[in-house]
Amino acid sequence: MTVLLKAYTIQFVQRKEGVLNLFDYHIHSQYSIDGKMTMDEACRQAIKLGLDEIVFTDHIDLDWPDNKAHFDMNNLELYIKSIETMQERYGDRLIIKKGMELGLQPHALDELNLIVDTFPVDFLIASVHVVDGMDPYLKEYYLDKTKEESYIKYYEQILMLIQKFDNFDVLGHLDYVKRYSPLEWEKDDYLYGIDIIDEIFKVLIEKGKGIEVNTSGYRHISDSPMPNIKIVKRFVDMGGKVITIGSDAHSLDCLAYCFDRALKELKSAGIAELTRFSNRKPQNIAI
Ligand SMILES: [Zn+2]
Ligand SMILES: [Zn+2]
Repeated sequence: MTVLLKAYTIQFVQRKEGVLNLFDYHIHSQYSIDGKMTMDEACRQAIKLGLDEIVFTDHIDLDWPDNKAHFDMNNLELYIKSIETMQERYGDRLIIKKGMELGLQPHALDELNLIVDTFPVDFLIASVHVVDGMDPYLKEYYLDKTKEESYIKYYEQILMLIQKFDNFDVLGHLDYVKRYSPLEWEKDDYLYGIDIIDEIFKVLIEKGKGIEVNTSGYRHISDSPMPNIKIVKRFVDMGGKVITIGSDAHSLDCLAYCFDRALKELKSAGIAELTRFSNRKPQNIAI
């Protein structure tokens, strides 16, 4: 327990009537193949941390490279039911929402639409985890590319996919490509592919979609969320209104990871609101 408490420090802001202070909109449970906590454990930890609201956003990644089932589709009904069980169990202390992190790939969009229509949730993250059959998690993605090319290729894939796909609320971890890059990180890396990022933002804003501030980025050498706060500000300056915050936690020690810091940095950048969702409807809350 001591170790866990040392891993992050959350300074709770004064609770005011009508102000939702802390909500984690990106959490993976045992239903994700890489999840290391049960839903029950995650809920209890969220209550312990004083969070007001969490959303389970387990992976829906179809046709994963090397045929590993990233999510067992037979579990979808069970997944939704398990969230409902959590709502019944902890609903008096914690708002628990249904969500999914959809892994976009060009040939998976129809099936994703079907899943989303069959299993309605509160909130959907659309993420790109695979480009040309390769996960940038693996070094092979970077083999024949310069750093700039590796970023641009990833952003182009996002742009192409969000032009075709509408069934989501926010784009997940915009610069995921940096997370596992074997190429040396430089402080201005977030500017690579900025023209395509602008195109991505234009499409998102036009469609009324948002981005997330993914605080797992603070564990990366860049010491900044995904994307960088300056890029979040750019989104707002371009007219973006929907921004969620999520830890992308796969384990208990990462729930609400560095939220205090992210909130401080967002506020310093002049960003005054974050978004929460119910039944896919956004509501902005002052931070
Ligand atoms: Zn992801
Ligand atoms: Zn995730």
